[in-house]
Amino acid sequence: MKNFWSSIAATNTSRVCLALLAGLVTARAQTNFYTITSTGSVSNRVNIVFLAEGYRTNDYAQFLTDVTNAANILLTNQPYAEYRSNFNVFAIAVPSTNSGSDHPCCGVTNSTFFSSTFDYGSDYYLSFPTNQLGQGRVDSLLNTFIPQSDLAILLVNDNLQGGSDGGGRTAIVSRGALFVVSSYNVILTHETGHVLGGLGDEYTDAYPGFPDIEEPNTTRETNRASIKWNAWISTNTPVPTPGTAPYSGVVGLFEGAHYHTTGWYRPKLNCMMKSLGVGFCEVCTEALVLAYYRQARPVDAFAPSPTNQTFTTTQAVNFSLTLLQPVTHSLSVQWYTNGVPLPSQTNAAFTLLPASLGNGSHTVSARVVDPTSLVRTDPTNLLSQTNTWSITVSVPQLTLSSPRWLGTNGFTFHVSGVAPAGFSVHASSNFVSWTSLATNSLVAGQFDFTNKSATNFSLRFYRASTPPAP
Ligand SMILES: [Zn+2]
Repeated sequence: MKNFWSSIAATNTSRVCLALLAGLVTARAQTNFYTITSTGSVSNRVNIVFLAEGYRTNDYAQFLTDVTNAANILLTNQPYAEYRSNFNVFAIAVPSTNSGSDHPCCGVTNSTFFSSTFDYGSDYYLSFPTNQLGQGRVDSLLNTFIPQSDLAILLVNDNLQGGSDGGGRTAIVSRGALFVVSSYNVILTHETGHVLGGLGDEYTDAYPGFPDIEEPNTTRETNRASIKWNAWISTNTPVPTPGTAPYSGVVGLFEGAHYHTTGWYRPKLNCMMKSLGVGFCEVCTEALVLAYYRQARPVDAFAPSPTNQTFTTTQAVNFSLTLLQPVTHSLSVQWYTNGVPLPSQTNAAFTLLPASLGNGSHTVSARVVDPTSLVRTDPTNLLSQTNTWSITVSVPQLTLSSPRWLGTNGFTFHVSGVAPAGFSVHASSNFVSWTSLATNSLVAGQFDFTNKSATNFSLRFYRASTPPAP
């Protein structure tokens, strides 16, 4: 069985001239861009880009191995795993002079491309400068190689575990964090919760001076109806919510969040945004799924294209969607003509008989919805998408009207409609056998048919059809 992550290809080499020491020393070094895995166009995917920090050119093979491990870890965690086909993974290898990161606590200093460092006080906190020496270099590389990046991850070649959200725009994680079995899948995933989902820390430890900006999973609101995740709180759950049974496993309003012990609240007693070793809570999960759908829409492609179509024959026309399907559940589809839902037309493809709509202007549309239970509040309808085709039907179509008895001169009726190849009039007394009476053409869409030999004959039925009988 082919490994999902096994196809790695370098597509660019030696593309960046690196000013390593603030312009004092300029070195031409090899920067490589790799496609680790591609599930589709970068224009409709969540594009993850790993960047190498503290890897020398000789460490590039190790970097690719570490990227593969890290991507597998991240995309194994929920809700990433359920939406795995929504992600592309790329990597940018840029060389550092030294391996590893700085450890100020221990006097270890390394010359690395993004100037990352562990913290003086905590050898778990791994960050980099938010100015041009750190984030600025991430921005520059992304702009050069993949401006469509949605989630930048700085992978630091240091065996000590650590990470951070890099100031909010770049998830930072050490390769050492990938090896810690008890928490290996948490630091990286936690940091992407900040960067991709806009989630806040649910930490209850006080950190005076931390900006009082609420995130999707933190709030100061205690009025139940106004709590942003109220859709997840059962009416049986008190608000605020005691951190004890039977509420320890449900969504509520738990005091302590956003580096405050009191006055700030989090959705659940425990969550990946608070502790190592647990998954995302329902509210954080919802925020992440919404974030995925901001970048990757459910309809990946559609046919026919373009969305303005004219049909001049009665031939059946196929409409179809290519959907970005989740792993364990399916997107739902409903087809419409002129805004009216079509019974049983709930597959990714739909066959239209143009004549069934009649000549004129119409719409064919398909509404796609992700019915996932992971999202309860979707104010901007990120989980649904409607594709609409504006169609003009102009197919041969005839109408008989205005029958009039002419006495001894027989009778007449009016033929109107569309018959570019002409039409013929038939008569029958039993609806089974038909006799052709005349072949004619419409003039400006009109024709008056007269039968002068109809005196004293028995009841007959008449029809006009196109193309005319040979
Ligand atoms: Zn949470």
